[in-house]
Amino acid sequence: MTILLKQHDYNEIIFFSQKKLPNEACGLLAGNIDGEIKSIKKVYYLTNLDQSPQHFSMDPQEQFAAIKEIRSMGWVLLGNFHSHPSSPSRPSQEDIHLAFDADACYLILSLQDKGNPVLKGFQIIENVVTEKVILMQF
Ligand SMILES: [Zn+2]
Repeated sequence: MTILLKQHDYNEIIFFSQKKLPNEACGLLAGNIDGEIKSIKKVYYLTNLDQSPQHFSMDPQEQFAAIKEIRSMGWVLLGNFHSHPSSPSRPSQEDIHLAFDADACYLILSLQDKGNPVLKGFQIIENVVTEKVILMQF
């Protein structure tokens, strides 16, 4: 799995996540799958109902609305993203436990180093985490 992300969406994910500090930010990733390539067409920015620096849970109504639009656009749900305000860009134990979709890509943005946001992509299959390449599209 390789993840294609538009530079604009990358910037927006960072901007949105910084705005939500000190809490975690979260959202859904939608787009197309072409073989091993997952191309992100739209990022849905959702409310973190937990309002917590260590956890997130996405608003179910917003998720529902996003899924509806994703279907109407002929896209598929590719995965999700969330931020780590003060920990590295890798899935926490809780993230791993909550990763039920083996096909999903999980993007994690670390804002631990304020001047240097780090975004990484992961696939999590039966508790095994594999980092995936994120290709930036200009
Ligand atoms: Zn996490």
